[in-house]
Amino acid sequence: MAKDIWIGDVQNGDYDGQDVELKGWIKRTRGSNKIRFVVLRDSTGIIQCVAKRDVIGDEAFESIASALIESSVVIRGTVNVDERSEGGHELVVSGLEIVGPVDPERPFPITESAMKAADGGETEFLLDNRHLYLRTGRMTTMLKVRSSVFGAIHNYFRDLDFVEYQAPNFVAGAVEGGSTLFEVPYFGRKAYLTQSWQLYAEAAMPALERLYTIAPSFRAEKSRTRRHLTEFWHAEMEIAWATNDEVMHHGEGVVRHIASTLLEERSNELQVLGRDLELIQRYADTPFPRMRYDEAIEILQGKGVEVEWGQDLDYSKEKILTQDFTVPHFLTHYPKIAKPFYHREDPSDGKYVLCHDLLAPEGYGEIIGGGERTWSEEEILARLDEEGTPKEAYQFYIDTRSYGGVPHGGFGLGVDRVCSWLSGADHIREVIPFPRDSRRVTP
Ligand code: ATP
Ligand code: MG
Repeated sequence: MAKDIWIGDVQNGDYDGQDVELKGWIKRTRGSNKIRFVVLRDSTGIIQCVAKRDVIGDEAFESIASALIESSVVIRGTVNVDERSEGGHELVVSGLEIVGPVDPERPFPITESAMKAADGGETEFLLDNRHLYLRTGRMTTMLKVRSSVFGAIHNYFRDLDFVEYQAPNFVAGAVEGGSTLFEVPYFGRKAYLTQSWQLYAEAAMPALERLYTIAPSFRAEKSRTRRHLTEFWHAEMEIAWATNDEVMHHGEGVVRHIASTLLEERSNELQVLGRDLELIQRYADTPFPRMRYDEAIEILQGKGVEVEWGQDLDYSKEKILTQDFTVPHFLTHYPKIAKPFYHREDPSDGKYVLCHDLLAPEGYGEIIGGGERTWSEEEILARLDEEGTPKEAYQFYIDTRSYGGVPHGGFGLGVDRVCSWLSGADHIREVIPFPRDSRRVTP
């Protein structure tokens, strides 16, 4: 039962006047005892189909009239150009077949507005029925934008000869600190779900020199925020012989490439989501300014925010700082005390590390964290000691320094966060099909 005609192509005018067979799902129906208007949806668009009893006969007419929303159907008919119809075309129905009916005992309010109404302002109903919510126009649009974001990241790195590289998801040690580690039983021992690909990528850096991935990372984030998931998609890169500046150059490069890819591939979707395309164009075109951490602290203190030098900036502070930004900004040179051992000390001032965060405007905040890595054996041992981090789990990581270490660096980009920002979502869970947070692992 292959499908070879897509509603999007019909609406593009590829089949005007032709007899076609369309396959899809019923989105809406209305009409009388003599004529029914059925809006058919597939993954590429919608089209209104007009069925008349005296043309298709009683049996087919009754079957279409009784079909519930979301029934899957095959509809045959002739494509008419019709300015008044949504999309400019309609199908004059000659016959139809219901392929997958909807359980009449459990009809479902599948439209966006009906689902929102059934939800009563909470989001639990939408999340409980996520498998059906995916079919709504807004979510389908989000998923298409998301697909283009993933494609853009792959293209950016592959065009520059980066090698895609995979790391294990079961690991023995933390990257981002113990408080967000997921512990899993592992044959009588403890293992953890990875928080980042980075340490294992650094192990392959002497082999591949330029590598990247897009993979899930896991963090037991207890507080529920608009920008944290417990399982998120992490685009990470690692590059040999590179400075913090060069790593930032790629962070900026990939983000601007994502923006320009969306303009090319998903302008319609962005507009459906209410996005101003000029804004996205600006993100694609404008260089991202750089600011040192110290300067950010001064700005915040100038705005009356209580923040002390040495603190990592949480979201409440990022939000205030980014208020006046019109494009993403890099924040560099954080205090060493705010960052884990693998961040390289600034040789010109040991109070700082050579790192960066990229903060998105419009209140979205951090989308990238990266920097130069501590690369000499001597320094990595000293940093682990300073932190009091036990070395066993990191022995392989230390070894990579003992055998021909070289300067290198990399970053991690939160793909869901970038999707959320560029699509203008209110919450990160709007851009991922089955969001995971501290309260939910179902459906
Ligand atoms: P935050 O301070 O916002 O919690 P982080 O500094 O812990 O983030 P990093 O360890 O720097 O995050 O991870 C790199 C990137 O991965 C972040 O810039 C962000 O875009 C993304 N990221 C981190 N944690 C999450 C999460 N729980 N959900 C979604 N994306 C995340
Ligand atoms: Mg960070």
